[in-house]
Amino acid sequence: MAGFDIREFMNDIEEAPGKVWFWDLEQAVIDANRCVQCGVCVAACPTDSIGIGEDDLPTLIKMCTGCSLCWDFCPRGGLQYETTWKITGNAEARTIEGIGHVEESYTARVNPMIKGAQDGGVVSALLISLLEAGEIDGALVARESETERWKGEAFLARTPEEVRECAGSFYNQTLALGHADFKGYDLPSNPRIAVVGTPCEIEGIKAMQARPWTWGSSRVEAITLTIALLCTKSFNYEKLMLEELRDKRGVDLDNVGRVDVIRGKLIVQDLDGEMLIEEPIRDFHGAALKGCDECADFIGHAADISVGSVGSTDGYSSVIIRSEEGLVAFEHVRPKLELRELDRAEALNKLDALDKRIAFNSLKRVFDPDAPLFIDFEEHLKHYCGTDRAPVEHDAVRY
Ligand SMILES: Cc1cc2nc3c(=O)[nH]c(=O)nc-3n(C[C@H](O)[C@H](O)[C@H](O)COP(=O)(O)OP(=O)(O)OC[C@H]3O[C@@H](n4cnc5c(N)ncnc54)[C@H](O)[C@@H]3O)c2cc1C
Ligand code: SF4
Ligand code: SF4
Repeated sequence: MAGFDIREFMNDIEEAPGKVWFWDLEQAVIDANRCVQCGVCVAACPTDSIGIGEDDLPTLIKMCTGCSLCWDFCPRGGLQYETTWKITGNAEARTIEGIGHVEESYTARVNPMIKGAQDGGVVSALLISLLEAGEIDGALVARESETERWKGEAFLARTPEEVRECAGSFYNQTLALGHADFKGYDLPSNPRIAVVGTPCEIEGIKAMQARPWTWGSSRVEAITLTIALLCTKSFNYEKLMLEELRDKRGVDLDNVGRVDVIRGKLIVQDLDGEMLIEEPIRDFHGAALKGCDECADFIGHAADISVGSVGSTDGYSSVIIRSEEGLVAFEHVRPKLELRELDRAEALNKLDALDKRIAFNSLKRVFDPDAPLFIDFEEHLKHYCGTDRAPVEHDAVRY
């Protein structure tokens, strides 16, 4: 592994005090099986020293300077993630209780419906409206891999057609922030980008925007709108789609038309809409990302807009607008939507409470939205060493 060689080489160099290196993050988060594949560490590295390995995990590709930024902004590492919940919009007026600050909330669906959309198609419709109005130059979304069926990969959609092609949910993380350099895309010099992501990814963006720095080639400053997909857990692609569905249950991934997690069940339908799998999601717990257990942000507190299915009738999206930017953006799609009050707001509260219970049982540190933004590496060690989420020691490590 490239990172191993660099680490060995650097073991011979005298170390300045107070440094936190990539391999500290590696031991405490990645090797401890706590990484939630958000890609924030890749985006935060000012020397572009972190890349994405073949295992879809962050890896060192160049010399690490020990600047600590990958550690600081990692939501399973140095980022006290819940403090970002107060960042979006007017901090004074915000509550983080329950589902947090809500400007407006709806049950909604686009009319006419967008083919392949997961629920009411609100996310795709919003992005299309913003592109058509010239309000954004692109949207970082997920597109199916060209080589691996039902694997989502980060993709910058720049036309309504591209947004349509990317509609629907992929139940794997795309390391979205690891693709925030927007390399290879033809964009204006100061692009305005919307990001669709899981709440942990939005937390990373908001934290980085609150502490502007030189982020190497990542264009975090270009992100003008954040849309969170409600999320209680994400999955490891190999374990869920290949081992559990293809190998153990004999599902032909080429014949799958829809994958959904709804009412506590994993649902897989074929291309004709026939049910292939309908099984409690707890049966797939081993394929979920362990680091998700520590996440209390089901609802996407730090996002401008949160969208999910819970709280609305099947075929509709639950939409929670949280900020002024979210309200302004939503006006562009409003005329295209069937809108009504949230069907079952209490369902959102219930799932949020359950998600928090799991997180508070799994977190080894205190959950404190009023704490400083960052947790020192030494402080992390105090809480996590000796637990089932302890850092994993390497052979060639030094502090
Ligand atoms: C891992 C995961 C877990 C989820 N868990 C829940 C849940 O517990 N409860 C709930 O109510 N809703 C959950 N959702 C959200 C739900 O599945 C829908 O995405 C949401 O309701 C939006 O539907 P829509 O029809 O409005 O969006 P669509 O119009 O279908 O657009 C969805 C957009 O999201 C993008 N996208 C899809 N997958 C990803 C991904 N992995 N990372 C980044 N972008 C992606 C697509 O490219 C598309 O642009 C989850 C989604 C994901 C990806
Ligand atoms: S959780 Fe995110 S920031 Fe932390 S190591 Fe994994 S990809 Fe990097
Ligand atoms: S459960 Fe939390 S940590 Fe896991 S993918 Fe969803 S938002 Fe990220």
